[in-house]
Amino acid sequence: MEKRTEIGEVGEFGLINHIAAKFTQKQEWTDLGIGDDTAVLDPKGNKVVTTTELFIEGVHFDLGYTPLQHLGFKVVSVVLSDIAAMNAIPAQITIGLGLSNRFSVESVDALYEGIRLACEEYKVDLVGGDTTSSPQGLIISMTATGVVEADKLVQRGTAKPNDVLCVTGDLGAALMGLHSLEREKQVFLSNPDMKPELEGKSYVVLRQLKPMARFDMIHEFRELGVVPTSMIDCSDGLASEIIHLCNASGLGARIFEKNIPIDDETYLAATEFNVSPLTAALNGGEDYELVFTVSQEDFPKIEKIADVTAIGYMTNIGNERVMVMKSDAIVDLTAPGFGKQ
Ligand code: ADP
Ligand code: MG
Repeated sequence: MEKRTEIGEVGEFGLINHIAAKFTQKQEWTDLGIGDDTAVLDPKGNKVVTTTELFIEGVHFDLGYTPLQHLGFKVVSVVLSDIAAMNAIPAQITIGLGLSNRFSVESVDALYEGIRLACEEYKVDLVGGDTTSSPQGLIISMTATGVVEADKLVQRGTAKPNDVLCVTGDLGAALMGLHSLEREKQVFLSNPDMKPELEGKSYVVLRQLKPMARFDMIHEFRELGVVPTSMIDCSDGLASEIIHLCNASGLGARIFEKNIPIDDETYLAATEFNVSPLTAALNGGEDYELVFTVSQEDFPKIEKIADVTAIGYMTNIGNERVMVMKSDAIVDLTAPGFGKQ
């Protein structure tokens, strides 16, 4: 039996101290972290960006196939992905936790081990939070802050006609990872002796369980001296993110099916699950890639980045949101089955 320490045994303050002891400060502009009534931040003249994401057990995650450590890492990645989408550098997080009595000190430790690994990965400081009991299940609220020089801040609605529309990485993988894990859960529920059948699914499963916020790209943009003209992170699927960029800018967009990046493993998994790989890429959520536009002038610099694909361009036809198929047919991204609006 694994050791189980009730949270009541150490108390809320004991738990917080126990958590805080495992974290070291990384950011110069964190003046004060955990321990007082609030954290104190000093952005030194930069713009501060801040955002929150709420995660509820049974709605946003399933502990049936999500190890707590992965969940901790993932919730940090998810909230930081929005910081990346503003072209900002992440710096601090705070966490609100609702814990039912199902959770022991050891399980909270596992969650925080993932959070700590993410803090190391992204060089952010955990500067506070709140801990409370929940009648049922686990609730996690993650808030993040980041900084950005005023002239590098990138919003959703600032593209210009003919700007090149690009995406990082590849799309649809996280959804195929989810399908693989869901299938294994069903198999396991019907026969607990069955071995998991995740062979050939390691990439898609990792994309579901351990997504990465693309700060490698944010640093790359700075190194290349490029500021995207608009940007959003891909949490709900490519089609819906493009529609957001269009709605915010009042512009149209035209993308090309042949350019949409889909990994081979995603392609094979989609075929196996009877899903069209294209639909997985356009509608599958949780990839946390960046969807952004750059001026024609800056595009040659961006083109050098291996992990960036140009998929189309912005148009001055306000209501156009279309995809040119390999067959040359033109389909509407707002059509049912494509972009959720
Ligand atoms: P208060 O009574 O002022 O709300 P708390 O006892 O809730 O204070 O928190 C004490 C300190 O511990 C604060 O700095 C708070 O931000 C931090 N904290 C509380 N819960 C957590 C948590 N789950 N993770 C990280 N820090 C936390
Ligand atoms: Mg509190």
